[in-house]
Amino acid sequence: MPEKIMIEKKVLSENDILAQELRKKFQEHSVFVINLVSSPGSGKTSLLEKTIGQLNDKLNIALVAGDVQTENDANRLIKAGGKMVRPIVTGGSCHLDASMILKSIEQFDLAKIDLFVIENVGNLVCPSSYDLGEDMKIVLISTTEGDDKPLKYPGMFRRSSVMIVNKTDLLGFSDFELHTVKENAKKINGQLKVFELSCRTGDGLPKWFDWLVEQVAFKKSDNW
Ligand code: MG
Ligand code: ZN
Repeated sequence: MPEKIMIEKKVLSENDILAQELRKKFQEHSVFVINLVSSPGSGKTSLLEKTIGQLNDKLNIALVAGDVQTENDANRLIKAGGKMVRPIVTGGSCHLDASMILKSIEQFDLAKIDLFVIENVGNLVCPSSYDLGEDMKIVLISTTEGDDKPLKYPGMFRRSSVMIVNKTDLLGFSDFELHTVKENAKKINGQLKVFELSCRTGDGLPKWFDWLVEQVAFKKSDNW
């Protein structure tokens, strides 16, 4: 058993070295990088479709979409107007790692990118342990899930900077309580910034768009 633990530790530290390399490359070109994580079906791709639709004219956005088996999400993002979209098919792995991102950025000119979005594989467990060189992890949760998710997956909520609650149009149709999920999340991470929105109705999306544009500008500023 101790052997197994050591192997995992080694893999993680190799990932950390590559993540540092990635972070340096992104920093050189002042690219703002987010790592979007959630359970399957929370709406990561839907949120990114809306985000591309709204911000494509303002920002140069590159996206990599991780999927275990298909390129469906990447194809949806291209259809939504994404100009720089690459799929990463993990072939069974339930998370992305830094080596996959390093390989994917060979296909991009970072000097021409403002915002780099990583859509991680739908999974709230191990993606929390893999640094991808991002500026922020953003965790998405929807109102069709349990409002105790932050307590069940504390690692992910602790390492995230932002929590987005999606599908607010469905509030009231389940036992999910907005104030409960926020209380639970704050117990784990008092610094979490929270957005409440519905990709279906568009409610709350403008605040998310504005914040994202601000972050991109901030990364380019001398104050970063
Ligand atoms: Mg998706
Ligand atoms: Zn995994």
